[in-house]
Amino acid sequence: MNRKKILITGGAGFIGSHLCEKLLNDGNEVLCVDNYFTGSKDNILHLMDNPYFEAIRHDIVHPFTADVDEIYNLACPASPVHYQYNAIKTIKTSVMGAINMLGLAKRLKAKILQASTSEVYGDPQVHPQQESYWGNVNPIGIRSCYDEGKRCAETLFMDYHRQNNVRVKIIRIFNTYGPNMNPNDGRVVSNFIVQALKGEDITIYGDGSQTRSFQYVDDLVEAMVRMMATNDSFTGPVNTGNPGEFTMIELANLVIELTGSKSKLVFRPLPSDDPKQRKPDITLAKESLGWEPKVQLKEGLIKTIEYFDNLLKQHV
Ligand code: NAD
Ligand code: UDP
Repeated sequence: MNRKKILITGGAGFIGSHLCEKLLNDGNEVLCVDNYFTGSKDNILHLMDNPYFEAIRHDIVHPFTADVDEIYNLACPASPVHYQYNAIKTIKTSVMGAINMLGLAKRLKAKILQASTSEVYGDPQVHPQQESYWGNVNPIGIRSCYDEGKRCAETLFMDYHRQNNVRVKIIRIFNTYGPNMNPNDGRVVSNFIVQALKGEDITIYGDGSQTRSFQYVDDLVEAMVRMMATNDSFTGPVNTGNPGEFTMIELANLVIELTGSKSKLVFRPLPSDDPKQRKPDITLAKESLGWEPKVQLKEGLIKTIEYFDNLLKQHV
């Protein structure tokens, strides 16, 4: 069996932990690197007994060396609350982290995949968003440390590819949810579910008419693995997301229905630069990866609600 050695930065985070599990199940050796800023050992505890799994505490702002065949670069806080907590650190993680990981990939001749984001489209003026759209991003706002950090990382990936023939892959991830999200993450799905389960008010930012497209984590992980397996000449970027589009009011009502909660909706100010709409065009993913999402919102929410319900019961 051809057991690949795979490095996952941010492997103890929400998406990273699912990716570690999937790649181990596929028969690979996985090295998880994380500084545990937003990730948690709890997410990877069940993998610790696997002899082909190893976790190392390391901050990717600093160089890292290991002998691997593939690198998935996920390390970066992803929720607005957490990436704005230390904005300078966020941009350092995206930019210096990308340089360190690309340098490693160059030396090892390893393939490297970047977890980019729909945030590179900013507050989009084109709808739905295609990869060819260059975006509408505020370079000096409170979301810029994340949006521009991720945009610069994409630039670095393409420059290492053109200049040093590094085999790069870029995927642009649209809002993803599922088990292992941090209950204090601050993103909308985890906030609404935790609030509904606790019977607390559900906080709608703005009037709740803004839209997002929500992808279940299993669908994303499948797309990531398929992307890594594409021909060396194919770099992306490729959108991965679920084109179903929902307003935040619709999401809140669905969460209330599925939890049977008595929570009420309350309205809070809309954070600045909050995009009004988001919906991926996934034509390229369908064509190049033979992929499309399988889990629709209701089904994914049921699984996520079950996860948070168990988690909250453990902590009472
Ligand atoms: P997460 O916060 O759960 O995971 C990020 C992980 O990176 C955490 O384990 C954190 O501790 C680690 N990390 C942060 N800074 C680090 C550093 N300097 N060095 C080492 N580790 C560090 O978030 P997530 O939702 O799992 O996101 C994973 C990746 O996917 C991120 O790069 C994010 O930008 C991207 N992404 C996520 C979404 C989404 O909806 N979840 C959407 C678009 C892009
Ligand atoms: N949002 C909300 N209530 C919350 C958290 C978020 O209404 O408790 C809104 C937020 O303003 C945004 C949408 O939900 O319009 C998605 O926010 P999230 O932070 O999950 O992701 P992003 O804005 O990065 O897509």
